[in-house]
Amino acid sequence: MFEGLSDKLSTILNGLTRRGALTEDDVNAALREVRRALLEADVALEVVRSFTDKVRARAVGAEVVRSVSPGQQVVKIVHDQLVEMLGADAEVIDLNAPPPVAILMVGLQGSGKTTTTAKIAKRLTTRDKRRVLMASLDTRRPAAMEQLAVLGKQVGVETLPIVAGQSAVQIARRAMEAARLGGYDVVMLDTAGRVTVDEGLMLEVADVKAATNPHEVLLVADALTGQDAVNTARAFDERLGVTGIVLTRMDGDARGGAALSMRAVTGKPIKLVGTGEKVDALEEFHPSRVANRILGMGDIVSLVEKASENIDHEKAMALAQKMRKGKFDLEDMRGQLAQMEKIGGIGGMLGMLPGIGKMKAQLENANIDERIIKRQVAIIDSMTPKERRNPDILKASRKKRIAAGSGAKVEEVNKLLKMHRQMADVMKMMGGGKGRGMAGALGN
Ligand code: GDP
Repeated sequence: MFEGLSDKLSTILNGLTRRGALTEDDVNAALREVRRALLEADVALEVVRSFTDKVRARAVGAEVVRSVSPGQQVVKIVHDQLVEMLGADAEVIDLNAPPPVAILMVGLQGSGKTTTTAKIAKRLTTRDKRRVLMASLDTRRPAAMEQLAVLGKQVGVETLPIVAGQSAVQIARRAMEAARLGGYDVVMLDTAGRVTVDEGLMLEVADVKAATNPHEVLLVADALTGQDAVNTARAFDERLGVTGIVLTRMDGDARGGAALSMRAVTGKPIKLVGTGEKVDALEEFHPSRVANRILGMGDIVSLVEKASENIDHEKAMALAQKMRKGKFDLEDMRGQLAQMEKIGGIGGMLGMLPGIGKMKAQLENANIDERIIKRQVAIIDSMTPKERRNPDILKASRKKRIAAGSGAKVEEVNKLLKMHRQMADVMKMMGGGKGRGMAGALGN
């Protein structure tokens, strides 16, 4: 899986990580190669474009992290963007509905639909301990019905007895009824496929869907067909509303274009991938693991993650130094406000400072939530740099201008200034240098 792309990307990115400094041109040159590699892997053009644009924007805007090289940072950005492109979190089959839960399997003929139905049924039976009933709705091909029955025996899952002459909807209704009476948890409905997407197929599957109200509509698509798989998924989704995708034949797919574009193009998650003909060759699709497999640079990614965690820490240390000297202007406050959301509001911040219980309670009473913090940041943003450094010069006319500029009331500006004074007082108290100051508290 992904061998070709993986080789190319690691060559390109390895070249970057060995360099000491990177210019924007270096990044652009590397991204041109990344773009070519993705296109060669048969990733959809629109997906490639958006991918490289986002990586470029993030690489150029990124804060330099000390102790890792800029190239390593770019690797991390590419990794994160890959994960985002693949769908961020792994999604699994959702059985959260009153039983029997219907799972409708749809897709083109030959995509691996029947095999995948049996694979999923086996997994739900053995791993998740569900009682599963399978039914083939392929009325045109008796062999397909037989195939499901044979697979059912092989994996130890029951199949609905075949009754000749029934329509797909009739079989589906019979399956739901049998499941209800028999106390089954899940009914897997293997619909008929055609060689291409056609109206007759869509109508039939839509009727079955209406009759059974499935909780999952899983589209099975063949990864080897690349962008055709993505287009098929889009067509089925537009007509039927797909809840997830199963990509088969990933074991033979060295390019990976379908897997890489599917989420970004259809907006639908890949829930499972088929990795072989055997009935247990089925895997969950974890975007971060897949990205790691493609880049093969897990070590660098975690290195940069750790180093980035330290950035906030270093900033806090620098601020603590300043505070010890009794300096805390509105610029500093703005930085604090911005960080506050991250560390759990003002209570969280003050919790790190020893010996200021009373002040802490007082400030917490100010009841600062995220929305208020945003307004306060907006007020500070409406001040000139000079005003931020010397809040004392803020008299009535300036306050009015700031209020107008930030869409706030003058009282809110006053409240903010009062809060700043209180915070500055706390800082001064601590800056006395007795015992452990904030630097000590944060330096653990
Ligand atoms: P259907 O017409 O969509 O129901 O397709 P089938 O389930 O009959 O599968 C067609 C062929 O593809 C069979 O030979 C399967 O063994 C094979 N197949 C299905 N899934 C996979 C997979 O993930 N990997 C490989 N290598 N073969 C698969």
